[in-house]
Amino acid sequence: MSKELDQYLADNLADLKSRGLYNEIEPLASANGPIITIGQRQLINLSANNYLGLATDSRVVAAAKAGLEKWGAGAGAVRTINGTLQVHLDLEQELAHFKGTEAAIAYQSGFNCNMAAISAVMGKNDVILSDELNHASIIDGCRLSGAKIIRVNHSDMADFRAKAQEVRSSGRYEKAMFITDGVFSMDGDICKLPEIVAIAKEFDLMVYVDDAHGSGVLGHGHGTVKHFGLEKEVEFQIGTLSKAIGVVGGYVAGTQALIDWLKVRSRPFLFSTSMTPADAAAAIQSLQILDQDTRLNDALWENANYFKTQLNQLGFDTGITETPITPVMIGDEQKAQEFSKRLYEEGIYVKSIVFPTVPLGTARVRNMPTAGHTKEMLDQAVAVYERVGREFDLI
Ligand code: PMP
Repeated sequence: MSKELDQYLADNLADLKSRGLYNEIEPLASANGPIITIGQRQLINLSANNYLGLATDSRVVAAAKAGLEKWGAGAGAVRTINGTLQVHLDLEQELAHFKGTEAAIAYQSGFNCNMAAISAVMGKNDVILSDELNHASIIDGCRLSGAKIIRVNHSDMADFRAKAQEVRSSGRYEKAMFITDGVFSMDGDICKLPEIVAIAKEFDLMVYVDDAHGSGVLGHGHGTVKHFGLEKEVEFQIGTLSKAIGVVGGYVAGTQALIDWLKVRSRPFLFSTSMTPADAAAAIQSLQILDQDTRLNDALWENANYFKTQLNQLGFDTGITETPITPVMIGDEQKAQEFSKRLYEEGIYVKSIVFPTVPLGTARVRNMPTAGHTKEMLDQAVAVYERVGREFDLI
């Protein structure tokens, strides 16, 4: 049987490779900063979510080391047995302060957090309206909850309104929730939160915003909800500690009652060992830096705007982005992979993003300029883009 399975898998892998849909994973031989080492080569890195450079910031690294020394390498148990160390509570307090909510709960990852929070609150008598481009972890969390799931066309407020109205007039459901990414990770567009909140109010829906790519970026670093000044209107503020915060982990910020509920009902909190204390200590440091100093956030935007303007002036299509996420749209999967390979040969590391991460025929390379890049690095990258872009008839 295992031979048959291996053959079946090998055939499928070969098929993916032949269609340009196989993602080769290359290990880094350095930290994931603005310049990375792969094998013997140094490359300008435009693929990391390390928006503010905090993953390699000396203050954050020092906090992780101090956390490691004080608390040990592992938390030793799940949060509800005796794996809640004071540093976890300190992190949760810092997160609530950062998001302007009564309380917060930390998880081991953003992925885990969506699986945990959605399924702890929603059940088979409930309904979830979910933007069609929401992250995979939201989709999985929705499925796990057992609630009825209704996909809403991406950022289409007329579609959202019609479906919300239908849900309420059916009288079929108890709780209803709308879930959206704050910033959509593949295109860089921002959810239409003021309209979302207004429609949700009209039809008595809760609002759940996963701000993995908005936190540290929008709202002077405090995220998409703060960017729109809607902290009081959004019941669930979700985030990850793995992108702009530079560490790993996920969180929900909300009312004390919501957080208390998640602490007794969300399964990754109850049944999976707590995040490492060093990670918690590092994340606290990152949040404090963000809270006290907007310079990294300013540098991120300055670099991103500069880079995007240069690409647009050359004639590249960067899609609908409103944030530092800077896709260069290509379309064909094979072409996107070859383009990324050529950029690599020229010293620029930018991954191609292909189906199933984005719809077929909308392949792209996705650039993530960060606060840590210098103007020289960005200029060098733009010069390579110009040369290789002409080779590929993209400009
Ligand atoms: N939600 C969104 C919107 C994301 O982009 C990501 C990142 N891949 C996640 C959740 C998962 O976060 P993490 O990497 O912390 O598991």
